[in-house]
Amino acid sequence: MNCINHPSESAVSQCQICGKGLCVECTNKFSKPICQDCFTVSRQKQKRAVVTEILLTLLIGLPIGFILDLLVNDTYKTPDSFWESHFFLIYMGLGIVAGWKALTRITPQIFLFLPVLGWVLYFLIKAVLSLFSGLIAFPVRTIRNLSLLFK
Ligand SMILES: [Zn+2]
Ligand SMILES: [Zn+2]
Repeated sequence: MNCINHPSESAVSQCQICGKGLCVECTNKFSKPICQDCFTVSRQKQKRAVVTEILLTLLIGLPIGFILDLLVNDTYKTPDSFWESHFFLIYMGLGIVAGWKALTRITPQIFLFLPVLGWVLYFLIKAVLSLFSGLIAFPVRTIRNLSLLFK
């Protein structure tokens, strides 16, 4: 088999996605052996995923931030500490989408046979944990997402 881009060169590897032959130069072009077409397609998919995550953050995270702020600051006239401030609570809500994705990455992808109530509980527990993992995952993922978007 020869290289898809250089028909005179013999292939030393194959594109990990479509299996086309790649010569030495083409194998080392990207961080993993992948042809130009598949690279372009996967970059587009990545960008779509980033845009989706930003939209979800604004459509789900932001309202959750406002709800948290209402829940906490309804009983207090003025926030007593940083942890009760509008800034922190809205930031926490915004992070739920990034936190959820971070949890999904570290939990094994197992299919659980649960009754519907079990799934609801699982969802709620994961959502609450996401608020906390999001405190770190939100800035990390935002930086990563923006750099992917503008690369
Ligand atoms: Zn390919
Ligand atoms: Zn080549």
